[in-house]
Amino acid sequence: MDKFIVASHNKKKLNELTRILKPMGFDVVCPTDIEGGVPDVEENGTTFEENALLKARSACKCSGLPAVADDSGLCVDALDGAPGIYSARYAGTGNDDDNNELLLKNLKGLPKEKRTARFISCIACVFPDGREFTVRGACEGYILKEPQGNGGFGYDPLFMTEFGCFGTLTPEEKDKVSHRHNAIVAFKEELKNYI
Ligand code: IMP
Repeated sequence: MDKFIVASHNKKKLNELTRILKPMGFDVVCPTDIEGGVPDVEENGTTFEENALLKARSACKCSGLPAVADDSGLCVDALDGAPGIYSARYAGTGNDDDNNELLLKNLKGLPKEKRTARFISCIACVFPDGREFTVRGACEGYILKEPQGNGGFGYDPLFMTEFGCFGTLTPEEKDKVSHRHNAIVAFKEELKNYI
């Protein structure tokens, strides 16, 4: 086993996972490196884990290589964990500004202590011999009443943490504390049990 496929079309995620797998002695390929590519799977799971596994299993099957995929989102306590796995399509348009506007509308009037939330990132790893595992990373915070900064993407300008608002952090600062970072640390640890 000397190669991994990272089942993502997102360059940033590819880079992050490549930075971890390379020093461990692995080559990393992406879906476009595979003849015929990797078809987009329908993310019809009911948890982050299920959706990440769906993506990783599909990439593993198409490539014959161990595969890694991630799924992430924002869970707001006052909304019973919504938007959760539906974070990207919360407002139905796939547009970040629309999602943020709907989130603010749904939390209207709630004080800071009732706006607690966390970003979750789940990474799934699937091997051609059928072994698979998932890990999770989280970052705790709360939802601001107004956006701050214009860094990052998605819900970042509304997400305040003990390290500052994600919308005002530099990419390097965010990378050190984010849910994705925490999931990647857990992934790196767990992978040692499989290789
Ligand atoms: P995906 O896992 O990259 O498909 O992300 C799902 C959705 O969750 C994104 O479209 C965003 O709406 C939200 N999300 C996930 N991670 C972040 C983040 O680091 N900042 C802001 N929004 C995020």
